Amino acid sequence: MVNHSLHEHLPSVAARVRNAGHVLLGLDFDGTLSPIVEDPSKAELSLETQDIIKALAAIPGISVAIVSGRSLQDVRGRVGIDGLIYAGNHGLEIHGPGLSYLDPTAVKARRALGWLAAALTKGLSQITGVIVENKSLTLSVHCRQVAIEDRETVFRHVQAAAAVAPDCFRISVGKLVYEVCPQAHWHKGSAMRWIDGQIGRQNTLTLYLGDDRTDEDAFRTLAHGITVKVGEPCETAATYHLDSPASVREFLYWLASLNQQGGQP
Ligand SMILES: [Mg+2]
Repeated sequence: MVNHSLHEHLPSVAARVRNAGHVLLGLDFDGTLSPIVEDPSKAELSLETQDIIKALAAIPGISVAIVSGRSLQDVRGRVGIDGLIYAGNHGLEIHGPGLSYLDPTAVKARRALGWLAAALTKGLSQITGVIVENKSLTLSVHCRQVAIEDRETVFRHVQAAAAVAPDCFRISVGKLVYEVCPQAHWHKGSAMRWIDGQIGRQNTLTLYLGDDRTDEDAFRTLAHGITVKVGEPCETAATYHLDSPASVREFLYWLASLNQQGGQP
């Protein structure tokens, strides 16, 4: 699907926001709020972005959910704002004011995931730069610092490891990261829909911004809302496009300014 520059469609977005009874704003973290960095442990939120998210979350008609592939604890620490809704591990764990979710299938697969992480750490120990990260409910194998010629080998190892328990795990490929997730019928889009239901407001407009393949589940699930793919233009289920985390920040300022102009929310 060819998507449209969000900048060119702000008037229609403004009209939908003003007509909504409530706005649920879903934001991915890496590559959406924070630029992608070589070492994922170094990713951080700028103070400016943190401030504008705080300002949006303080508006009564807006709920903000951070939806990340990182563990809930990790992403909550990096965003550092109390009172938001946080969905970690691609939505398998959710926590926020008055709401809490932990996916039962993912919990059951925890022990097997631990074995898989140990096997991969051992199996990939000879490959420089690879990072195996057990996030308790899902597992990431980061390849950003792996030589290009070794990346295929890493992928084959991940495939072989997950194939030991094919009914338990599936692999998704992100931006130089392989994600091993439990076979739960749950993803970032399900998480957003669940959060929407828990908030329980009438006439809620959902906005969702993300940059990676796992965000496509949310774009498809939330097609009735406003979906924004961040990064280079590419094939996506999102309706709109923004080019970078800096553009996302500008959009968030604009969204907050709608409220200051006296519109709804
Ligand atoms: Mg991302």
